Amino acid sequence: MSSVVEPAPVDFQRQKEVAAALRAFMPKAAVLFDREDVQPYECDGLSAYRQVPMVVALPENEDQVRQILEVCHALRVPVIARGAGTGLSGGALPLGNGVLLSLAKLMRILEIDPAARTARVQPGVRNLAISEAVAPLGLYYAPDPSSQIACSIGGNVAENSGGVHCLKYGLTVHNILKLRAITIEGEIMEIGGDGLDSAGFDLLALLTGSEGMLAVVTEVTVKLLPRPECAQVVMAAFDDVEKAGAAVANIIGAGIIPAGLEMMDQAATLAVEHFVHAGYPTDVASILLCESDGTAEEVDDEIRRVESIMEASGAILIRVSTSDAERLRFWAGRKAAFPAVGRISPDYYCMDGTIPRRRLAEVLRKIADLEVKYGLRCANVFHAGDGNLHPLILYDANKPGELERTEAFGGEILEFSIRVGGTITGEHGVGIEKVNHMCVQFRPAELAAFHGVKRAFDEHGLLNPGKAVPTLQRCAEFGRAHIHVGREKFPDLPRF
Ligand SMILES: Cc1cc2nc3c(=O)[nH]c(=O)nc-3n(C[C@H](O)[C@H](O)[C@H](O)COP(=O)(O)OP(=O)(O)OC[C@H]3O[C@@H](n4cnc5c(N)ncnc54)[C@H](O)[C@@H]3O)c2cc1C
Repeated sequence: MSSVVEPAPVDFQRQKEVAAALRAFMPKAAVLFDREDVQPYECDGLSAYRQVPMVVALPENEDQVRQILEVCHALRVPVIARGAGTGLSGGALPLGNGVLLSLAKLMRILEIDPAARTARVQPGVRNLAISEAVAPLGLYYAPDPSSQIACSIGGNVAENSGGVHCLKYGLTVHNILKLRAITIEGEIMEIGGDGLDSAGFDLLALLTGSEGMLAVVTEVTVKLLPRPECAQVVMAAFDDVEKAGAAVANIIGAGIIPAGLEMMDQAATLAVEHFVHAGYPTDVASILLCESDGTAEEVDDEIRRVESIMEASGAILIRVSTSDAERLRFWAGRKAAFPAVGRISPDYYCMDGTIPRRRLAEVLRKIADLEVKYGLRCANVFHAGDGNLHPLILYDANKPGELERTEAFGGEILEFSIRVGGTITGEHGVGIEKVNHMCVQFRPAELAAFHGVKRAFDEHGLLNPGKAVPTLQRCAEFGRAHIHVGREKFPDLPRF
């Protein structure tokens, strides 16, 4: 990915035509095209890439969304859906010749059904707002991205987002029942059902994680869970990341599925502790946070087992939260890892790959080598339980060449993740950030199948074009052979 998106010259004639067509059914103030009005939408959480949209549309209801899509289809204008814009892979990056369709005003919780333990919500509802709304009923919505205070449920569906508690409770796709979504032609689809299975192809799973490329989500029915009776966190410190990695494997190997199992290296721990004062030791190589939840007896039993595994794996310090306030403080540190790193570097680039848990130490060593190779620091946080890495590469965009070096560094991490049997995404999606590395992960036949699905929904390629699925031509230009499987199966694959 080149670091700067080429600014497309504004086609004022086209801009006027599209804005006028939208203003035929929307208030003037809900269709923006003046430079200063559309500039705030120029990027998402991946701020290294920016592009000002031609027009921004701010619908207030589903029917307006439907009409916007109909107009864009008729005029052949690309449409980029946007939730809260917290995405880290450039999924909501606008196009200079496209409409940025913000779902931010569709933010009502439409129905809460405590008996069925479901809530029906509009796509702009914030993730955390769902749990806050159902808290008086003793319920919550389990997937908890660290951005949950801001990110929208529509964005969560489009990215199939995860979070600290997804190890035990699953990703977004495991926690939703139904979707209402609108095709680029303006057709409303209702998919999913109240049961665990429904007739026909599994479009719910297909749309979840489709990064705004197949349809625009206008309603989500989420599953709610009863709040666990109690929860406790074990915080363990290690003088060697390899031992911390082994502790993770030993916990899972013992048949324990903790509610959360997170790891931070020393660079991340230091940044977080100075920012949040979560109570982490800072003179250690790595810390693990392991949460148990359930009944008091279950938690007591699991915490004891986790403690003894941590000890046997070489932990040099173990602390168990003694109150809910302390438990939340331990998590507050982990959840603030990205902003904490933002305080110690002008810019940071958050990578997102998934690897087999047992390869953690090897991948960390590789990242340390790459820090030397590229002359850049990297702080590492992991959803360790599910092998999801978030290396945060620290750089300064104002220094010539640093972003390009950062991108090359990140690219090598992704390729190494594939080589050890992992994937290029864990939960942040592909967007524009990792579109080239799709060529490394997938065979041409597999990419062709993705394009077939895209065409079935969006014949003219108008929904979020250029994201997530590379053209075969782009792959040829990128020039990397696909790897697809780890070294286990092909031991002769060259080591990086
Ligand atoms: C500090 C920080 C921490 C984060 N932590 C996590 C984490 O722990 N786990 C995690 O998974 N992610 C995390 N993220 C990434 C991000 O928050 C998630 O990807 C989130 O789901 C994006 O939601 P959003 O509303 O901001 O979507 P946006 O960024 O606005 O959009 C994301 C994608 O979804 C599409 N989209 C948005 N709304 C719709 C819709 N209604 N219909 C169709 N497509 C739509 C967009 O086109 C785009 O492709 C983090 C981000 C930040 C900044």
